[in-house]
Amino acid sequence: MIQAKGYAAQDAETDLAPWDFERREVGPHDVQIEIQYCGVCHSDLHQIKNDWFPGIFPMVPGHEIVGRIVKVGDHVKKFKVDELAGVGCMVDSCQVCENCKDGLEQYCLEGNVQTYNGRGKDGVPTYGGYSNTIVVREEFVLHISDKLSLAATAPLLCAGITTYSPLRHWKVGKGHKLAVLGLGGLGHMGVKFGVAFGAEVTVLSTSASKAEAAKALGAHHFVVTSDPAQLKAVKGSFDFILDTVSAEHDMNMYLSLLRTNGTHICVGVPPAYSIHPFSLLGGRKSVAGSGIGGIPETQEMLDFCAEHNIVSDIEMIDIKDIQTAYDRMVKGDVRYRFVIDIATL
Ligand code: NAP
Ligand code: ZN
Repeated sequence: MIQAKGYAAQDAETDLAPWDFERREVGPHDVQIEIQYCGVCHSDLHQIKNDWFPGIFPMVPGHEIVGRIVKVGDHVKKFKVDELAGVGCMVDSCQVCENCKDGLEQYCLEGNVQTYNGRGKDGVPTYGGYSNTIVVREEFVLHISDKLSLAATAPLLCAGITTYSPLRHWKVGKGHKLAVLGLGGLGHMGVKFGVAFGAEVTVLSTSASKAEAAKALGAHHFVVTSDPAQLKAVKGSFDFILDTVSAEHDMNMYLSLLRTNGTHICVGVPPAYSIHPFSLLGGRKSVAGSGIGGIPETQEMLDFCAEHNIVSDIEMIDIKDIQTAYDRMVKGDVRYRFVIDIATL
């Protein structure tokens, strides 16, 4: 077995702390990555806190992983030692169902294996990227360009693909008015991709203090959602709302901002939604959802980012400061993604 070290939550109530554990040996189809940076996603906190379902503890979070390959199995074809590589939210799937064959492994009909807080096909719990090394089947490893800042590339593995995929699926672009709801890790990537795809982008935010920064990200307009006058001015105006909010919010109010035939795309995962049918049928509106993205599309997104010089705006932290980072993330005080420097482990 490979000896690994990381930061783990021992249960839902205790702060993360150093924890030593084992990873499997590198098998014929595996790649071993020495992790250099790992992004901090709000999903990490949801899962540590059992917000969605009872977690598997000890839990080593982290699914925005980048680093350098240190070993490859005998049958590995796509990767070589010393190359940069990334791992996102999944590390395995059945690979034979119709969704997997379509490159939609996130919707694997057998259920995909999550990078942490899951169990591999061998039944062993998976441990994520708040650690120094990881072993992953090559089909779930991504090529990372050396043209971009490596640390700022890490959040693309979740925040990037989770916003890129729905914008591509719904063909959001020139001629569309896109609202990005919530300007955190996902939201700021949604702004960058929306702008890159040619949409007219408005940020809907609870934080007036983010106005200047939103414009710097490329957003064309900024609306503070606590101001009724600003909301009234955008009523019935958006073709799409990309909803990245992590906490409960007034869906009926936001649906009123869509124009006829508009689509509200949920990517944030609050504990619940409450939608009145009138909010949908008055204007033939749709509410949709989207989960991360498949492996081929994740590689497409990474290549698109390398070509267009798109990375995440990050604040680097030492791993010992992870709890402070969580506290600040909950308050919406992050510009726009914390990334852990794994060298501080
Ligand atoms: P984040 O960085 O904390 O950003 C969330 C943003 O939502 C905050 O910055 C804040 O922006 C806004 N917000 C927070 N509470 C709010 C409230 N009560 N009402 C309105 N707005 C509020 O989180 P993240 O990492 O981007 O993740 C966002 C959500 O997406 C989480 O629930 C996460 O689990 C989920 N997620 C889903 C997928 C998927 O596959 N669909 C993948 C990754 C993450 P403002 O300050 O601008 O208001
Ligand atoms: Zn995530």
